[in-house]
Amino acid sequence: MLTSANGWTASKDPAEIDIKSYTVPGTKIKLRCAEACAPLLITFAAEFHSHVEPIDEGALDDWGYAFRPIRGETTKLSNHSSGTAIDLNAPKHPLGASGTFTPMQTVLIQALAKKYGIKWGGDYKNRKDEMHFEIDLTPAKAAALIVKLGLKHEL
Ligand SMILES: [Zn+2]
Repeated sequence: MLTSANGWTASKDPAEIDIKSYTVPGTKIKLRCAEACAPLLITFAAEFHSHVEPIDEGALDDWGYAFRPIRGETTKLSNHSSGTAIDLNAPKHPLGASGTFTPMQTVLIQALAKKYGIKWGGDYKNRKDEMHFEIDLTPAKAAALIVKLGLKHEL
């Protein structure tokens, strides 16, 4: 069994890991992610859209599931490979750049990320990836958080 960096099952076959397409509430944006963590990622994206920065302007630049290694590495699979990561407004927040959000937005992102069990690429110690948000919980803890937040029936 293949796993991505956060330990979730990864696959080249999206059906095998229950990858589905979800519309982010309040937008026309669709993101593909794993059903087991979709309520967390998609609700996070909706809150990001309302409170941090709109995600439905300009080109289609919001991404979810993609089977690929971490950029710049050959073996480790990116969390996009398990459908547990999303990129929002990618061109505005390119890989390796830091300070692409204001201090106010940064505080808000960190609070929202914490609420939804997400790790933000802007908090990576080494190479920053400010467009990137990934599930930072085991599948069991993600399921428990979805119930705790009452998100089960929202999507
Ligand atoms: Zn990413």
